[in-house]
Amino acid sequence: MFQRMATTELERYEGAATIEKVAALSRRRAFVFPSSDIYGGLGSTYDYGHYGVLLKQNVKGAWQRAMVQEREDIVLLDSAIILHPEVWVASGHVGGFSDPLVDCRTCKLRFRADHLETSQCGRKPSKHPGETPDCDLTEARAFNLMFETHVGPVRDDASVAYLRPETAQGIFINFKNVTSSMRVKPPFGIAQIGKSFRNEITPGNFLFRTREFEQMEMEFFVPPADAERWYREWIELRRQWYLDLGLRESHLRVRAHEASELSHYSSGTSDLEYLFPIGWSELEGIANRGDFDLSAHAAASGTKLEWIGQDERYVPHVIEPAAGADRATLAFLVDAYDEDEAGGERRVVLRLHPRLAPVKAAVLPLIGKDAALTERARALFEDLRRVMAVEYDDSASIGKRYRRQDEIGTPWALTIDHQTLEDGTITLRDRDSLQQERIALEDARALLLERLDAPWHPRA
Ligand code: ATP
Repeated sequence: MFQRMATTELERYEGAATIEKVAALSRRRAFVFPSSDIYGGLGSTYDYGHYGVLLKQNVKGAWQRAMVQEREDIVLLDSAIILHPEVWVASGHVGGFSDPLVDCRTCKLRFRADHLETSQCGRKPSKHPGETPDCDLTEARAFNLMFETHVGPVRDDASVAYLRPETAQGIFINFKNVTSSMRVKPPFGIAQIGKSFRNEITPGNFLFRTREFEQMEMEFFVPPADAERWYREWIELRRQWYLDLGLRESHLRVRAHEASELSHYSSGTSDLEYLFPIGWSELEGIANRGDFDLSAHAAASGTKLEWIGQDERYVPHVIEPAAGADRATLAFLVDAYDEDEAGGERRVVLRLHPRLAPVKAAVLPLIGKDAALTERARALFEDLRRVMAVEYDDSASIGKRYRRQDEIGTPWALTIDHQTLEDGTITLRDRDSLQQERIALEDARALLLERLDAPWHPRA
């Protein structure tokens, strides 16, 4: 069962997608499989299949390209997952990274106290926990979301360590290493992509909330007086990133947190929210964290974490855009999912931005058993795969092959037929418009590279 999300305004999702349909397609077409399947599954845990790996890699690649390659003021980091346990004391996670939890003594299920109105009673799924006379809920208590482990052979209090619940702290504790080894000066940023772990009480909705997930976080260190300006700037830059990669503008909004929602470290947070089929939900958070983190780690570690310039010295303030790679992948999948008609048949199509599509083009000889056609097609495939992700397919009918490529979101199909042998032209089929044009085989590579680089817009 997929749970419904709390939404301030429940608006209808415009589009063919439901979380169930996207999850079913993901499984059928090797994007995402339920994990530990043959052992009955491990709730809300997923494994990425071939196309899912490629898609998520493209999402992360696009993030890194926007953050690092296309700028000169952000550098990369890949810190450890298990850090010194003191890191999580100083950051406030050991003391405060918790959700309020209630248990039901009757059905033995656990719920987030602040999610009761969107959760289902264990006995009567049409009711919320606490709504039936049989429900017997405990008082809410704080439940720390960090996964604990032990480092080394002895399992005692001294060996307790944590799987990181966010990638950000690995960045803060490397502030001194980076500033003393790289040519950086505020304003500058450190970006990191990596796994994070949270023992979520109520995971669910497919990739939306899982206990193991990947984050894409960037900490941008600025002179304190410029923090507000950079906070605004990063909200807009991040919003634009999703739009440039094809998310429909009508499905994306910025929501500023109320003062009562702000985390202890934040003087301002805005969520980029996406209109998932389950309602408006957080896609990414952009926070103005002030000097909280550097000051906290300086105090706890005894190491000064500050910027020392020619004639200035200060603790930089931090603006943090924090995104989830899996949640973003889900948003791109949902936004791209469509159903229409092609050749008189219903088809499912993923209208992914070509830069995100796992496969850019499929090379298809019209008749798979015709050696003259397959030879030309293989040669084209060999040429194209040196510069982009392409697939060769000579199995099944051409219609079936098109359908398969539509379902994995391949923007272009190149078909080699008998006319190719006569005049050296091939058919270029467009996934979205379904238009077919005749192009010279020798131009295919340049044309695809040009189209891959061009701006792309989703349907209205
Ligand atoms: P939420 O309110 O949804 O629990 P959060 O505000 O705790 O999220 P952050 O700590 O700001 O999330 O993490 C930054 C991003 O990491 C989120 O916007 C989301 O994209 C992603 N993320 C956080 N928790 C999860 C999770 N359990 N599963 C998948 N992605 C997650």
